[in-house]
Order: sequence, then C-alpha cells, then structure tokens
Amino acid sequence: MSYDLPVERILHPRLLSCPPETPLREAARLMSDARCSSILVMEGSQLRGIWTERDALTIDFSLPDALDMPISRVMSSPVKTLHGGTTVGEAALRFKLDSVRHYVVVNDSGEHLGIVTQSDVVQNQGVEYFVQLRDVNSVLREPPIWVPGTLPLGEAAKRMREVRRDALVVEGPDGEAGILTERDIIRLISRERLDGAIWEMASKPLVSVAAESSLYHARTLFSENHIRHLGVTGPAGELIGLITYGDILASIEHDYVQELQKALREREQQLSVSNHNLKLAQKVFDTSAEGIMVTDEHVCIESVNPAFTRITGYEIGEALGAKPSILKSGRHNSHFYREMWAALELSGAWQGEIWNRRKNGEIYPEWLSISTVRNQEGHVTNYVAIFTDITARKEAEDRVHHLAYHDALTGLPNRSLFLEHLDHALHHAHRQGAMVALMFLDLDRFKLINDTFGHAMGDKLLVETARRLAGCVREGDTVSRLGGDEFTVILEDLRSADDAALIARKILDVLSQPMVLDGQELFITPSIGISLYPTDSLYPEPLVKNADAAMYQAKERGRHNYQFYTPDMNSRAFERLALENKLRRALERNELVLHYQPRVDINSRQVTGMEALLRWNHPERGLVPPSDFIPIAEESGLIVPIGEWVLRTACAQNKRWQEDGFPKLCMAVNISARQFKHSKLVDTVRQVLEETGLDPADLELEITETIAMEHAEESVKKLAELKAMGVRLSMDDFGTGHSSLSYLKQFPIDSLKIDKSFLQDTSQGSKDAAIAQAISTMAERLQLKVITEGVETQEQLAFLVGNKSGEVQGYYFSHPLPPEEFAALLRSGKIFDQD
Ligand code: C2E
Ligand code: MG
Ligand code: MG
Repeated sequence: MSYDLPVERILHPRLLSCPPETPLREAARLMSDARCSSILVMEGSQLRGIWTERDALTIDFSLPDALDMPISRVMSSPVKTLHGGTTVGEAALRFKLDSVRHYVVVNDSGEHLGIVTQSDVVQNQGVEYFVQLRDVNSVLREPPIWVPGTLPLGEAAKRMREVRRDALVVEGPDGEAGILTERDIIRLISRERLDGAIWEMASKPLVSVAAESSLYHARTLFSENHIRHLGVTGPAGELIGLITYGDILASIEHDYVQELQKALREREQQLSVSNHNLKLAQKVFDTSAEGIMVTDEHVCIESVNPAFTRITGYEIGEALGAKPSILKSGRHNSHFYREMWAALELSGAWQGEIWNRRKNGEIYPEWLSISTVRNQEGHVTNYVAIFTDITARKEAEDRVHHLAYHDALTGLPNRSLFLEHLDHALHHAHRQGAMVALMFLDLDRFKLINDTFGHAMGDKLLVETARRLAGCVREGDTVSRLGGDEFTVILEDLRSADDAALIARKILDVLSQPMVLDGQELFITPSIGISLYPTDSLYPEPLVKNADAAMYQAKERGRHNYQFYTPDMNSRAFERLALENKLRRALERNELVLHYQPRVDINSRQVTGMEALLRWNHPERGLVPPSDFIPIAEESGLIVPIGEWVLRTACAQNKRWQEDGFPKLCMAVNISARQFKHSKLVDTVRQVLEETGLDPADLELEITETIAMEHAEESVKKLAELKAMGVRLSMDDFGTGHSSLSYLKQFPIDSLKIDKSFLQDTSQGSKDAAIAQAISTMAERLQLKVITEGVETQEQLAFLVGNKSGEVQGYYFSHPLPPEEFAALLRSGKIFDQD
C-alpha cells in the first residue's frame, strides 16, 4: 500500500470558492453544478471557512429567506489545512484525530492546492483487500427511515437533520421505494424548489444489494451507478437498510488504520535498525585500515574511503567518477584482468595479490578482494573492492627469502638458489635446444691470504671477487657462492663451448688484476672447471660433479687456468685426486670434527679416559668415517697438517674439560705411520702441549705395531723422546701386525690396545680367546696395561672380567660422541655398572 504517496498527488485540484456574503442559494448552485461536496469561503485570498453538503442540513427551510442567508453565517471555520507533502498514511491518521472529512491542501507558501477528503485517502489505499473480507450486513447499522412521498422538501430536510441521516427512503404511491439524499437537497436548494412533494424529486428506483453480498460487490454497484447510497434487502427481498459509500469506508477504516499504524511502526523500526547499520557501516568505511572503493555498474568510482587516499595517494575528489584503471601498474597482462573479470562474473567475487601504482608513480603490492553487488533483479549495481597494502609483508618475505637463498657476505645466491637456477636453466635450455655451461671456480691459495692477512681481509677479498665475477657475465647468468672461496657460474644461451672458454678467459684475466684492499695489494688467481649441457650430461647433479672434477684438473695443471670436463676425469685415479683436494679444503674450511669415546676401568667401571676419533663433516655426504679418507690423507701427506690439527684440538679440548671441573682424564690420540715418521712430530707434540697447557701425562699417543716395527731403531728413539716429555704411549690394534716380541720389550710403551678382532669369538677354548689371554699374560709380564677395544656385548665384557684385563672401550659403553655429548656423559657421572 502506498502510505508514502504525498496527498498533493490525490487531491481534487478544482477548488470551488465564493466570498463570505454569497447567498446560500448561490453557493448551493455552484456546488451542484460542479458536483462538489464542499465550497470554500474566501475573503480576498483569505480562507474564512468551508460549507459542505452536510452543513446544508442545518438550514431551517421554514424561514422565508433561509436561502438568501450569506454563507458566512452557516459555514464551518476555521478550516483545517494539510501540507501537500503530507503522506497519505499520515493524513489518514490526522482525519481520525481531527474528526473532519475535508482538508484544504496547501504548499510551502500557504497557497491552496486543492481539497482532500477522507474517502480520497482511504480509496487510494487499495481497499480491495478489506472489502472482500466483509459482507454488506456487517456495515448495516439502523433500519432505514421511510418518509411518505408526499412530504414537502423542507420537512424532509428537517427530518433528515433530526434523525441525523444523510438520506431518507421515500415511499412512492404504490409502495415502491425512492431515495432523497443531502446532495439532492443542495441540488434542490440551487433550483429553489423547496415546496414540492419529495416523491417527484427523489431518485427512483432505489438501487439495492442483498445483505449477504460482499462489500466488494456493493462498492462495484456504487461506482457503476455513480451513486452514493444503496438499499439493502433482506432474505425476502424486503428493504432492511441503506448503506453509503462512507459506511463502507468507515467499516474498513478501523482495520485500515490499524494496519497502517502497524506498518508504520514496523517501518520505523526497520528504519532505525537500518539507520544504525548505515551509521555503523559508514564508521567502518571511514576508519578502516583497508582501502575501500565502490564503483557503479559501469565500473566508475562512486565512493572511496580515507584509507584509499592514504594508500593510493588519490584524493576523494580525484577518484570519484574515475575508472579504477588509474591504479594500474602495468605489471599484469590483459589475460590477468580477463581472468579476474571472469571470476567476478561467475562467482561474484575475486581475491588475490595485485601490483598497483600510487599517484606518485610508486608500484606497490596489495591484497585485493572484489565483490559484485546485484539488485533484486540480478543486475549488477556495484563493485566493491577492499584492499590492503602488503608492501611491508612482501618486503619481510623477500628479506627472509633473500636470507635463505643468498650468501650473507657477498649477497650472491647460495648453494640452494644456485641449484634452483641450474635446474631452471636446464629446463629452459631443453625447451630452446640451447647450450648451458656450468663453471666451478676456486681461488688458488686463498687459505694463505686468510692465514697471512686475517679473516677480515679474506672476507673483503671474497666480496671483491664476487663483484668482479658478476661483472664478467651477462644479465641472465648466475654467479653463486657455494661457501669458502668456491664460486659457480651458470652461463645460459651459449652458441658453442668457445663462448664458455671466452668467458673463462675473461674471468681469469679480471680476477688476476691486483686487488687493493685496506691499502694492501693482493694477488689472487682462480682455477676454473667447466661442464656443458647437453654435451657432458643432461642433469644437474652430474654436471656439478663434472665441473668440480674439471676444476681439480685445473688445479693439477698448475692452477690459474680453466679446464673443460673430459670423461677420463671420472676415472678412479682422478676421483682420488679430487677427494684429496676436497680433503685439503675440508681442513681449511673446518669441516673436520673430533668425536670422543670413553675408556672404562674394568673393575671400577669408571671413565678413565677417552680416544679422539676423527670425522669429516662433508657438506654433501654428511659424517664421513676416517677409513674413507685417512688412507688418502696418508698418501698425499695431508695427514701431517690434519694430524697436527687433531692433536691440537684434542689437547685443547681435554684441557678445557679439566678447567670446567671434570676429573683429570687421559686423552688418546691416534698417530698414523706417515705422521709418526715425520721429522717434526716430537716438536709438534711439545709445541701443542705448551700451547694448550695440558699436562703431558694426560695425553696418550696411539701408534700401531707396524709403524713401530718398520724402522724399529728410529722408532724406539722417537718414542723415547716422547716418553721423556711425559707423554704416555700405547700400541694400537695389537695382534694384527707382525710384532716382534723382542722389539716390543725395547719400546717404551705404557699400554697395549688389543684389537677388537680378538673379541669375535670369546667362547671357552676358542683360538681368539687363547690369543687374547696370551697377550694379557705377556703384557702383565712386561708391566704393560691392557686396553681391550670393541666391546659390544655383555658376554665379551664377562670374558674380559674373567681375565682381569685392565681397561675396556666399545659400543657396549658408548659410541664415540661429539664433544657436547661427551661432556654431558661426564657430567652425568655415569658409572658403567651394568649389574
Ligand atoms: P682405532 O684407533 O682402532 O679406533 C677404534 C675404532 O673402533 C673406531 O673406529 C671406533 O669407532 C671403533 N669402535 C669403537 N667401539 C667399537 C665397538 O664396540 N665395535 C666396533 N665394531 N667398533 C668400535 P673409527 O672411529 O671408524 O676409526 C677407525 C680408525 O681410523 C681408527 O682405529 C684409527 O686407526 C683411525 N683414526 C681415527 N681417528 C684418527 C685420527 O685422528 N688420526 C689418525 N691417524 N687415525 C685415526
Ligand atoms: Mg686408536
Ligand atoms: Mg684400534
């Protein structure tokens, strides 16, 4: 229902008016001619009063000059007015409150626009709903007032006034019914026919409706016949009442007004709720940290919030009416935007990361959510975009990513990123049918510079090397630092191997130029190994291995040169060579570590000492056992510097543990053949003991019987020198070599370490058991301590206890442990009492 319609839309614009002195007769004529139910009384432009059909009934027609009376004497005054903008709903309530049937409608300046009646208002509200629910009977109030047709009009009007009816049923000569209404009276007044009998003037016949008919039916009769009264007939067709259009309206008016009030109340509530929501939404819009942009269906910006301005730099005024494309960064292709629109079309929403451009030209990343707003018909009315500037998050991500994939010193890609790039380069080359070269590059004698000028200088040299290297390659190529002084270069899109050679020569040249660092002039040369895709391999791993091998070849060939990989570089001999080189670098790069295995007194079960055992913490292979590299270290002579490192590290460690308050224990260090033979061994031991401040009695050197026997006399001399220093000596792996018992007597050793092989079969009467027992007995005679290695089981231990053998070592007690774990073992004060 259109409660919201303003009354100016339903009013009667034709205003009938007359001056106050107008005689009633004249006023009635005007009303009758115009078919109006009222007339305004105007004095100039002043509204003085109103005279209505109803008012006409108050006239006493018996007075001779009744109709000459000026209208101002009988009019109603003052006249109630209503503003034209008043809604129909409100007007309906006002009619009820003011109990009037007419309002003069005025505009802002008080001008009269027309008249609106109560019927106008109710009729305009689509009363069908109400009239269908009720029957005529429900509005019927009183029986009709019959008057004889012979009654004079004046009498009839008087009667009408007395009984307060607006119509009378007039009985015709044959008993038939006619009707006389207020309107008829006005009409008659205007024609000055006040004295005739009313049958003549009555409307005949009386149109009637059955009492059980619906009001809807009655209403149809009213409008079809242009009448305002209907007779109502009973079951036998007798006339039982009169109803007017006003009765219908009055009967539904109550329902209507109630309905109206309810509707208005509901709407007010809804309005206040939505008002609240609106205010809330506005507040969110204004204070949101996220930028918000609303466009119309043509994607023209309709509103933006303050955060939008903060993020994009565009003021509200600049944004309104513009297209969101003012923010385009140019970083996304049309395909990207097409997909976005397709998603919006399909699901009504899109989310993602997008690069946009601020007003100042700066490009920034944002997280953007767009949703489509559709009306009830399903047509798009708006697009709402909400976004956050994720520059800071992106930067943090980039930083973390950079840290994870770059070398902190030079800023070059690290091993992980190098492998990623290599993979990428190979895929790309595969698609393009191109050639890729992989270079491994190592600085010759870098350790020397580090040792001579210090690590800080070494670092500067690496940074400068990185800078020069990067200058030698094209943009798409990758220079990485794998660690230490080892660099790699990936060269992409090569036409031939010659291209790689050319760049290798350039690198050799550029890096050989003197570097002036902190006023020092340094010279460094690289050795370069090159492998090629697809010639040498199609896969990253072999390419890396081959380039590495080629680099050792370059080192072998006198350094400061480059070598292409050749298949013979994969021969065993070459691999050994490469391993040797790697081992040399392992020492330089601190890849070597010592683990410690406790020695336990067989009777007290307390830790009496430990053996230092060497491991190589290989970057790719993990912990490498000594058997894999000690032989090579021996052959290449590398065992001398490595052995010195072991000695120094083990002594320093033992000293530190003693300082940390652990019990004074003896540290056993293995000495290999080549190391033992080295002329400087005694000096080195003395120097290390001095350096570390370790009591010589807390160091035990383990040599094998083979070493001792080889140059027995010389060995005896050397051992005597060490002995004199206070160092303890033991013979390792005893029983596996060809010991000459006579010599053994001459060696100034303190203990024998029985090799673990003799523990394999400890059953009663076995050969192993016999030998082990013999060694024990012999050792006792020579006053040597016996240490049994490789005790793995309780049975082996029980066998040894039976032999009263002095000290034991083996997995049964503990595996060799890294220093922290060994310290924890000591701290726990564990006594290996197994019972
Ligand atoms: P080794 O001096 O005879 O050392 C004892 C070896 O037996 C160690 O092997 C040790 O881990 C292992 N072992 C200990 N308990 C048990 C056990 O219960 N069962 C078995 N099956 N094995 C046990 P690792 O550490 O692999 O060392 C092997 C050899 O490498 C050593 O034999 C030694 O000759 C040599 N070596 C180790 N470190 C050095 C070092 O710093 N310098 C030199 N020159 N040689 C070393
Ligand atoms: Mg040993
Ligand atoms: Mg041994």
